Amino acid sequence: MGLLIYFNGKLIPEEEAKVSIFDHGLLYGDGVFEGIRGYNGRIFKLDEHLYRLYASAKAIMLDVPLEFSELKDAIVQTVRANKLRDSYIRVVVTRGVGDLGLDPRKCKIPTLFIIASRIELYPADIYEKGLDVITVATKRNLTEAVSPAIKSLNYLNNIMGKIEANNAGASEGLMLNHLGYVSECTGENIFIVRRKSLITPPVSAGVLGGITRETVMEIAAEIGLEVKEMDITRYDIFTAEECFLTGTAAEIVPVISLDGRTIGTGKPGDITNRIKKEYSLLTMSEGVPVYE
Ligand code: PMP
Repeated sequence: MGLLIYFNGKLIPEEEAKVSIFDHGLLYGDGVFEGIRGYNGRIFKLDEHLYRLYASAKAIMLDVPLEFSELKDAIVQTVRANKLRDSYIRVVVTRGVGDLGLDPRKCKIPTLFIIASRIELYPADIYEKGLDVITVATKRNLTEAVSPAIKSLNYLNNIMGKIEANNAGASEGLMLNHLGYVSECTGENIFIVRRKSLITPPVSAGVLGGITRETVMEIAAEIGLEVKEMDITRYDIFTAEECFLTGTAAEIVPVISLDGRTIGTGKPGDITNRIKKEYSLLTMSEGVPVYE
């Protein structure tokens, strides 16, 4: 059976959920989105994802057509209507239908849709073995151009990086910023472990302020690790004891090599495994209930 999609205020069958060819989300990538996960009948970190969605919209001067609590409600209703216990939820707000020019003022009504679907889990062996990552030539967007902190529909920068990683046969691509510092991978944030501290690049290095990143930083502090946000280079990754990526869909994924250099022992590290375990405990115990 097909999904029920929340589309501009109504729940409709997926076959009927269609966006206009004049929607600026499609014509120009003018819009914002979120990817959220539901576990065991609850929606994990829903408020945090919505704060980021409203911040992304604010940054591009786009009015989300629902208030925070209305949108939260619409998301819960959409998950419930699809009877999902474990889910991956996509919330999209576009500039709406306009003409063929760029001008967003021509787009009077934003388009808002919510897809609550199933999550396709990553193969188990990537968590056991870890990923081989390469550095891609495409630089992360300048924060002064289209800031990577905005989760916008304009993902070509990341897609270019992903294509290069695919072409090189790597599982992920590491993106550097224009100064040569590490930013993030094409769809995940990056962390390294160095002498009992956890290090991740700051948002100013051209990264999306990941919700999983934030959660991992909280977990790390709770288990007594020092957490530092600082600029790092490839050298810091080559010489790190451990390295892992974080994201809503991927959760916590160990990285075992960068550009052919083995990281640490070449196996997922103890700290990575500990954080992964704590993260999965949180996902099972926290979140906004869908069925109560
Ligand atoms: N960086 C980028 C570029 C992303 O698209 C994502 C989300 N897939 C992340 C980092 C991770 O963010 P989050 O933990 O909020 O999913």
